[in-house]
Amino acid sequence: MKVYTWKQLFWAMCLVYFPVLILGLLTGFLLEFLLVTTVLHIAWHYYFLKKLNDWLWISKSTRLPPGKSVWEHAYIGIHNMQQRHRKRRNNLASVISRFREGSEALPDAVVVFKKDGEIVWCNRLAQFQLGFKWPDDAGENITNLIRHPDFVEYLRSDAYNEPLDLVSPINNEKVLEFRIMPYAKNQRLLIVRDVTSYRQMDENRRHFVANVSHELRTPLTVLQGYIEMLAMSAQDDKMQLKTIQVLDQQTARMCALVEQLMTLSKIEGAATLDFHESINMSALLTQVENEAVTLGRKKSQTVTFKVDPKLSVVGDEMQVRSAIANLVYNAINYTPEHGTIKVIWKRVQEGAYFCVMDTGDGIAPEHILHLTERFYRVDASRSRDTGGSGLGLSIVKHALSHYDSKLHIESHVGEGSQFSFIIPDNYIC
Ligand code: ADP
Repeated sequence: MKVYTWKQLFWAMCLVYFPVLILGLLTGFLLEFLLVTTVLHIAWHYYFLKKLNDWLWISKSTRLPPGKSVWEHAYIGIHNMQQRHRKRRNNLASVISRFREGSEALPDAVVVFKKDGEIVWCNRLAQFQLGFKWPDDAGENITNLIRHPDFVEYLRSDAYNEPLDLVSPINNEKVLEFRIMPYAKNQRLLIVRDVTSYRQMDENRRHFVANVSHELRTPLTVLQGYIEMLAMSAQDDKMQLKTIQVLDQQTARMCALVEQLMTLSKIEGAATLDFHESINMSALLTQVENEAVTLGRKKSQTVTFKVDPKLSVVGDEMQVRSAIANLVYNAINYTPEHGTIKVIWKRVQEGAYFCVMDTGDGIAPEHILHLTERFYRVDASRSRDTGGSGLGLSIVKHALSHYDSKLHIESHVGEGSQFSFIIPDNYIC
């Protein structure tokens, strides 16, 4: 399509005025001719301007009005622009409708809201699960509809790596999992899933394990008592002594496993930490040190503790003791004779730092990610020899999760391992 330049417009004007100029000069009525031509010229332009106005504002037809010269060119330009916009709008509408259809098909509640909390859109499930009313709640702030303080804090934290579990705002018996994702520019996507049955199953499993462990404790104690009696009354019969020794070892292992299972289910099911309860870390670490030195002496190991006696944290002493003791005893168990174990408890910028370093066998990299899984053992037979159940590091992981902390493991085969964690500043007292 041709584009009109200033030069072309000038020539077009010349084409109108030149014959008039000649005619005017020849007849001697130059001014009159020029005036009439200018009036006609302006009227001609007004005519097409009016047509354009009618087309854009009155008829709104998709068909072009007939135009001439530069006006025809302008009409086609505007028409093409309209077509492009219409196409883009249709594409956008079909993307939005596909997104909405997809969101409606999801088994989860979906809410789109702006960074400041203003609700843009929600699907039908959000209306059932969260009690939103659509379209009445459009533009409402999400914190006015989900008022739980934990949700408000989660929203403001801007750290959405982990989901948040909350009781449903409209049904106390339901547990919902809230997950926020940054979406488009300055928008957020909230996905809410009903996890009541999963949490119930988890709870049932925990109760079952806790009950079974508890029930096993009594018969095991009775068994241990009888084994002790048998050991005392045993004659010099080698076969009998060996049998009693194996029985004793196996019941001791089973007792340890039951204890570990009970500790794990207690820590897993523990409520949030009590911020008023301060733990005497110095006394706790001295106790663990004494036990570790005694155990280490049997393997001629050097066990050293470097402890900041003034550094203490709040919370549940049982949980912190379990985490620390499991890491220290593992270091002793998985370090050969004459090895070295170093324990550090000190203040760092981010909080309270605990670290156990050993010169043991080390762990191959492919195992490291799995170590905190229940019953995961690198070498089951080796672990059995040390009396391990594969639950120790799982206990550590759960205890640390209550402190918003994670276990950090560094290890090199043949060189040794380092297990550490940091308890954040807000738990220090
Ligand atoms: P276990 O009761 O078997 O020790 P844990 O959960 O405490 O179970 O540890 C899991 C596995 O991690 C152990 O079986 C062992 O193979 C490995 N492990 C733990 N601590 C150490 C360590 N300090 N050095 C080498 N391996 C370790």
